[in-house]
Amino acid sequence: MRDKIYNFMRTRYGNDQFSSFLTWMGLILIIIDVWAKTGVLYFLGLASFIYGYVRIFSKKYDKRAAENKWFLSHTASVRNLFKRMKKSKEAGKDYRIFTCPRCEQMIRIPRGKGRIEIRCPKCGNTFIKKS
Ligand SMILES: [Zn+2]
Repeated sequence: MRDKIYNFMRTRYGNDQFSSFLTWMGLILIIIDVWAKTGVLYFLGLASFIYGYVRIFSKKYDKRAAENKWFLSHTASVRNLFKRMKKSKEAGKDYRIFTCPRCEQMIRIPRGKGRIEIRCPKCGNTFIKKS
C-alpha cells in the first residue's frame, strides 16, 4: 500500500506553498460559512480546497511551478508583514516602550537597566522610569 502511494505520488507535482494556502484557505472559508451560512463562502472554500488538491496530484510540473511562483511573488508583501510582526514581537522582549508625559513621543528603552532617567529626543523632557 505504501509503495502504491509512493509510486502514485512520484509522478505527481506534490504539495507547495500555493496548494497549502488553497487547502487551508478552503477549509477556513468552509468553517466560516458554517456560521455565516452565505453558501457563497462554502462554494468558494470547496473550490479552493479542491483546486489545492488538483494541483498536488497534477502532472503538469511547469504549469504548477509557474503558479506557485506567481503566488509567492504576489504574496511577498503580506508574508513579509507577518515576518516583521514576528520580529517586532521578539524585539519586544528586549525593549520597553515608554511614552513621554509631555509630548507623547514613543521612546524605546532596553530592558533590565533598572531605574533610569529617560530624555525625550523630541521635546527634551526628562522622566524617571524602571526599564
Ligand atoms: Zn517629549
